[in-house]
Amino acid sequence: MGMTGIQILKFLPKTNCGECGVPTCLAFAMQLATGKAELEKCPYVAEESKAKLAASAAPPVRPLTVGTGEYAVKVGGETVSFRHEKTFVNPPGLACLVSSDEAEASIQGKIDRFKACQFERVGLNLRPEMFALKDASNDPATYKAFVQKFMGLCDASLILICPNPDVMAAAMEVAAERKPLLYAVTLKNGPKMAKLAKDFGCPAVVRGDGNMDTVIKLTENLGKMGLKDLVIDTGTREPHRLYQELTLIRRSALATFRPLGYPTIVFPCEMASDLDNETLLSALYIAKYGSFIVMSDFQAHSLFPLLLSRLNIYTDPQRPMTAEQGIYPIGNPDENSPVLVTSNFSLTYFIVSGEIESSRVPAWLLVQDTEGLSVLTAWAAGKFNGETVGTFVKKSGIADKISQKKVIIPGYAAAISGELEEELGGWQVVVGPREASQIPKFLKTL
Ligand code: SF4
Repeated sequence: MGMTGIQILKFLPKTNCGECGVPTCLAFAMQLATGKAELEKCPYVAEESKAKLAASAAPPVRPLTVGTGEYAVKVGGETVSFRHEKTFVNPPGLACLVSSDEAEASIQGKIDRFKACQFERVGLNLRPEMFALKDASNDPATYKAFVQKFMGLCDASLILICPNPDVMAAAMEVAAERKPLLYAVTLKNGPKMAKLAKDFGCPAVVRGDGNMDTVIKLTENLGKMGLKDLVIDTGTREPHRLYQELTLIRRSALATFRPLGYPTIVFPCEMASDLDNETLLSALYIAKYGSFIVMSDFQAHSLFPLLLSRLNIYTDPQRPMTAEQGIYPIGNPDENSPVLVTSNFSLTYFIVSGEIESSRVPAWLLVQDTEGLSVLTAWAAGKFNGETVGTFVKKSGIADKISQKKVIIPGYAAAISGELEEELGGWQVVVGPREASQIPKFLKTL
């Protein structure tokens, strides 16, 4: 756990000068403790105190990134055990296992499904990000050629699975640019594999033998070597025991036991006899506390629920999902198309836009920022009234796109119509249906 405000206060100058933007050092300390202020805002903290406060401020689970570009996966950075305490930060990467001795058609099938499994949901593109390339040859040239060929077929982020440092070194000649995750440093290959990760600046997995002491010994030794970007595989493949170990790792990390303050990798592909059970285990470890999850295959029926589960668990429960404020053209609208206005609560936006789309009547949808509140709640909170909607409509620029100044408001906000007409001056305000499901009928008869 980080320091409390009172503990932080001991390191501040206690002059209450107010230069940090709050009136007292205590208030500033409280803000630091809750992550609402940056230490740099106080120009008078001594260097020694800065170092102590910075160490305390480092997240208990070290953040790290695997891969580059659009498929890069950032994990770690977590600060709590339970999502209701504070949001989980970085969702786990989902990887598909491919072996170097696998049939070409099977590999191509996995790549095709990886590319096809992309799902639009609440304005986000849900998809997997990674492949785990396993060496079955123990031959440097063979594994290198396999990795190189795979990279030519797919841009995914990579986990390179190979116990032999010499074989891994050959693969890294072609794969280093993708910043892969190296699997794995063990007691046996430790120094050589660790040096490889350090030389290439890539994160590496520490693989234990089912004994947590081994993991701790390895992370401590590698830390002393300067290798900080580590991922833990405890070595356990028994689901319940692994669940306990992952919980222990998270709790230890939160108690600032640094040797276990790292992201984790789990292998449902080695723990289940079929994809259904793999999917169930993957769902378990998405919730608690896998950072990389390696499956034997990507199939839409298994992947979609996992992606949704990941989205839900890693969405901040205290912040509603929102759509961006702006003008959304639906179905190629022109200057004669109707204009509807709604709130930016994601669900509202998607239901309303979906109903407009299904009406096949081209329209302009104005989405107003209501801080993620639905229409009725926003109206009750004073965020969707004649003044706010009127100001938004005027500033949106929709007037330049249409010939008739007419705007349709949700039926639930009928009470604002008079005030809105006054605010807009010269616009006609039409009250639309209360329920989104009535929009197609309403638009067709408008
Ligand atoms: S700037 Fe520093 S010394 Fe001044 S009130 Fe803020 S924390 Fe205290």
